[in-house]
Amino acid sequence: MGNPRKSAILLFGPPGSGKGTQGAVLGELLGFFHVSTGDIFRALDKESELGNTFASYSSRGELVPDDVTIRIFNAHLEKAQKNRDYSPSDDILLLDGIPRSVQQAQLLEDDLDVLNVIHFAANNEAELINRLRGRAMKQGRTDDAKEEVIRRRLEVYAQETRPVLAHYDAGIVKTVDAIGTPAEVLARVLAEIAPLQRDYWAARASAG
Ligand code: AMP
Repeated sequence: MGNPRKSAILLFGPPGSGKGTQGAVLGELLGFFHVSTGDIFRALDKESELGNTFASYSSRGELVPDDVTIRIFNAHLEKAQKNRDYSPSDDILLLDGIPRSVQQAQLLEDDLDVLNVIHFAANNEAELINRLRGRAMKQGRTDDAKEEVIRRRLEVYAQETRPVLAHYDAGIVKTVDAIGTPAEVLARVLAEIAPLQRDYWAARASAG
């Protein structure tokens, strides 16, 4: 028998749509376990083989291959479990940046119970590009400093990542307007996930 599937909410949307900002707030304050695969990759030792692999893809705006990504993601969760930062039976994962291809969604299927997909809808490409440029300056993110790399990231989202939405039951996909201030977007996200967290905690209390 395998382990029970891990409960997860996906934060889903194009680069620059604000998933990272929202994920950090929700993870820090509201009791979700936030995992950003971009952050995990950026924390790799730049001299290591994996660090080099990451740089060679991200500097071009491309995705890291699926098998490498899933391996690193699973290792991160195992470590968090060992350190008792994360407990699959108590915590809901808030996933930011994964799955990013249909194949990743398939590879994670046996391991994740996806409760909801929060889709950050942002059709205003000029606004996304502006946000990414601003962030690159503040955070020293080289992948977002060059316009051609930003454009490639948006193309890769449209071609490889957006189809992931159709992989999930339409009933669990909740679309929020990602254009607005961080507080406005947070209010929209909370309206979707507050009832979910309440039901999850109620079910756990009655089970145990
Ligand atoms: P992000 O910070 O989420 O925009 O991710 C930065 C870069 O990390 C991406 O452009 C990819 O090169 C890589 N990356 C992050 N998450 C994934 C993923 N799930 N699959 C493949 N590559 C990823």
